[in-house]
Amino acid sequence: MLALHGLREHDGRGPAVKVVMCPRCRSVNPATSLFCSQCGFALKLEAAYKAEESAKALVEMAEEVDALKMALKERDETIRDLRREIDGLKSLAMRTLSGGGQR
Ligand SMILES: [Zn+2]
Repeated sequence: MLALHGLREHDGRGPAVKVVMCPRCRSVNPATSLFCSQCGFALKLEAAYKAEESAKALVEMAEEVDALKMALKERDETIRDLRREIDGLKSLAMRTLSGGGQR
């Protein structure tokens, strides 16, 4: 099961440096690393969960950004409406001024 996850135990000879082989790109990482230094693949289950949580958080953030974009779009439309109203008032004022208020 450990081998399936690319985990390798040291054989006991030489300096005891535990390493983890990345199942995706086969590069060797220190056993303490949570993610592959080459491709960023999650080397530990907890890291995978964390990555999933981060992905979920990113999706939520993206949704928030979308909501903000919608709000901004609505605000832009409101501003456009206000500009149109102001333009209308301006032309009304110009007409009133040039007409001298006469009927
Ligand atoms: Zn890798």
